[in-house]
Amino acid sequence: MEKLQAIKGTYDILPEDAVLWQYIEQNIREICELYGYGEIRMPVFENTALFARGVGDTTDVVQKEMYTFTDKGNRSITLRPEGTSGVVRSVLEHSLLSGALPLKMYYNITCYRNEKPQAGRYREFRQFGVEAFGSSDNALDAEIISLAVSFLKRMGLKGLKVNINSIGCPKCRAEYNKALKEYLGGKLNELCPTCNTRFEKNPMRIIDCKEEKCKAAAAGAPRLLDMVCDECREHFEGLKKNLEIMGIDYQVDSNIVRGLDYYTKTVFEITSDDLGAQSTVCGGGRYDGLVEQLGGSPTPGIGFGLGIERLILCMKAQNVDIPSKKTQKIFVCNMGDNAKTFAMKLTDDLRKLGISASCDNMKKSLKAQMKYADKIKSEYTVIIGDNEIETGECSIK
Ligand code: ATP
Ligand code: MG
Repeated sequence: MEKLQAIKGTYDILPEDAVLWQYIEQNIREICELYGYGEIRMPVFENTALFARGVGDTTDVVQKEMYTFTDKGNRSITLRPEGTSGVVRSVLEHSLLSGALPLKMYYNITCYRNEKPQAGRYREFRQFGVEAFGSSDNALDAEIISLAVSFLKRMGLKGLKVNINSIGCPKCRAEYNKALKEYLGGKLNELCPTCNTRFEKNPMRIIDCKEEKCKAAAAGAPRLLDMVCDECREHFEGLKKNLEIMGIDYQVDSNIVRGLDYYTKTVFEITSDDLGAQSTVCGGGRYDGLVEQLGGSPTPGIGFGLGIERLILCMKAQNVDIPSKKTQKIFVCNMGDNAKTFAMKLTDDLRKLGISASCDNMKKSLKAQMKYADKIKSEYTVIIGDNEIETGECSIK
């Protein structure tokens, strides 16, 4: 029979590793509570159209990476490649924008992307993300960046870089796209096939291409940051000031791009040199056009997505101390049928008192039971035999 294995690009989190995941999840909950963000949980799959519109059909994610299938009702369904689209869909479906604004939410979800698996890149991976709707104030941009930075610091990471940029608004971007196309127009044969299709639809994404020849061709291209309109410039300058007030170090990186019409103004990435090629732990930005794009009334929004696998890789690379597995408090060894029944009842009573306990139920030898207790790192062992049942007393080791 063919050996059954986890699908390429997916992996199991075994009990030993789950301790770290639980620690991270607890910290996600705590930091979000601290900042006033409530949790939202969405379905794993949605209509494909949501992602085509919400992520953008010129992106790599939508063009190459989605797990899409037709279900029995002949509907096109996609496993979510990211969280923001689903959150916006849910927010609109439940009219949450008619409540108190800004609306602030977080999620901790699995995502699915059909990309080439490698270190820090999986086909099923996990993302912690936050989204805030209803305010276009740059204090909110700073708050979101502060939340990500505080969380990563809490997880013990050092030497992270916060890179920020502004990609303007549809108004100034139209001017920029014109200038960019003028610059790249004579270099089309130097660009990869994907960038050639981007040239008409979404030239800004060429700046973001990872192909060396595209990077070289775009090296001297005009910078959007130099061309943003007054409103976008003011927003960006204000964000920088806010970050300074909060004591967050940042760098301006004019190469960060989220080249879609509904992404606006602030974009940012948090990177670590300890991560090799997949150096981005967290990516986010403002998307003032997205809610409208998905059928709501125009509402500004901003958020980030933070890859937990990359967070863990970084924690391991930096040898961050992580809490060790909580061990069993008491293991109840027992000899003979009477003692076995007694041990079962005693273990049950201990658990009812909130004390973690287990007992042998394999009729192992006492030596084997002690060995097992040792292996599972039980803090204490007790031994129940006829004597202990009679006197109602036992010693604890
Ligand atoms: P990259 O440039 O590395 O492909 P991205 O721009 O596609 O990243 P986003 O869509 O911004 O990534 O997702 C936010 C975060 O999710 C990333 O910064 C990263 O930490 C994580 N991430 C994205 N794709 C994967 C993946 N395939 N496996 C593991 N983590 C991922
Ligand atoms: Mg990607």
